[in-house]
Amino acid sequence: MDGKTNKQLAEIRKNFVSNGVSAVAMNFIESGKGATLYDVEGKSYVDFAGGIGAMNVGHSHPKVVEAIVEQARKLTHSCFFVNPYESGVRLAEKLAEITPGTGPKKTVFLTSGAEAVENAVKVARVYTKRPAVICFENAYHGRTLLTMTMTSKIKPFKLGFGPMAPEVYRMPFGDTVDAEYLLDYFNKYINPEAVAAVVAEPVQGEGGFITPGPDYFQKLVKICHDLGILFVADEIQSGMGRTGKMFAIENWGVEPDMICVGKSLAAGMPISAVVGRADIMDSVHVGGLGGTYGGNPVACAAALAVLDVFEQEGILEKAVALGKKLETKLTSYQSKYDFVGGLRGMGAMRGFEILTGPNGGPAADKAKAVVDYCHANGLILLACGTYGHVIRILAPLVITDEELEKGFSILEKGLDSIKG
Ligand code: PMP
Repeated sequence: MDGKTNKQLAEIRKNFVSNGVSAVAMNFIESGKGATLYDVEGKSYVDFAGGIGAMNVGHSHPKVVEAIVEQARKLTHSCFFVNPYESGVRLAEKLAEITPGTGPKKTVFLTSGAEAVENAVKVARVYTKRPAVICFENAYHGRTLLTMTMTSKIKPFKLGFGPMAPEVYRMPFGDTVDAEYLLDYFNKYINPEAVAAVVAEPVQGEGGFITPGPDYFQKLVKICHDLGILFVADEIQSGMGRTGKMFAIENWGVEPDMICVGKSLAAGMPISAVVGRADIMDSVHVGGLGGTYGGNPVACAAALAVLDVFEQEGILEKAVALGKKLETKLTSYQSKYDFVGGLRGMGAMRGFEILTGPNGGPAADKAKAVVDYCHANGLILLACGTYGHVIRILAPLVITDEELEKGFSILEKGLDSIKG
């Protein structure tokens, strides 16, 4: 490249990138290391977003980079369902080991998170021979036709894109109703014998870091299993150590029938997976699942390196420690700023509400003002939530104390800037 400025690149973007693609800020990123990003003008940013939760082991981790380069020199693509390769089968073996549940498990690799969720539903339909899927209010599962339908928020995700896919049902999530509500739902909306799967994010991501109560999933999954319904955990944002366990659903001691993994699995390389009970995953006819790039060898090599880094560098312990620091800091914001409302999330997946004032309603414009301030002043930060008013933190789990303090101090100035 030839040394363009952010402004010059923004002009090219404006002329050639579809208006349908948003950008939180026009800081064109050139490189990253750990939890710090650098733009094309050499300005540094503490990263509290991690590419939306995809960088749990940090940017350009040397072991991951080395694995990518080594694999790229040998082979970048053959297509896993034309000619398989070792990194693919090794990763499937490893995923069976690290996902919850002791019985035999099998995997299908895809490219994006949306594809993983979509394939989990396809598998559930074949296995159960039932059509319907139940998802939740405030859910986010992706942007393909089926996963967009399963996603809750209308604007921007669904607006004008209908008709939606059939046989998708939505019920309130576990923060507002208890699990028994599902039984009532079967009275009101859908015959349980027509339901293939219930699909849930154990901690909702885009929807606002919403976390159900301590026994919610045990009860929900028992009801599902009593009625022959599969339980699918969408761990695309909450997984890979984010909550302090490898998968968030482990916080409830529940074994999902299928689990969807993506994002931080391969440190931003495009790969996702559905890992499930072997009998379920094997119920699909040969050739029924796949995709040209699913389980790309470079992405598989990156994922294997990520999993090594988890073991060698104690990433789960780091997540627990980071979670405690975030909790302490965000709790202090509740007393310091009267417009900071409820805290959200668990482990290192944390957020807080920005309200119109003490005990006020959601203030999306104020949250956006904080995010904009932070981007202009060296901190990459994201808002989320159905009402756009939750500030969320998905910093790489390897963030140093120095980076964290720097990030907090910018965030606090951002919060100061919307006072009164
Ligand atoms: N599920 C969840 C819980 C997600 O957070 C996301 C992405 N934000 C997806 C699915 C979709 O993943 P992708 O963007 O890779 O398709």
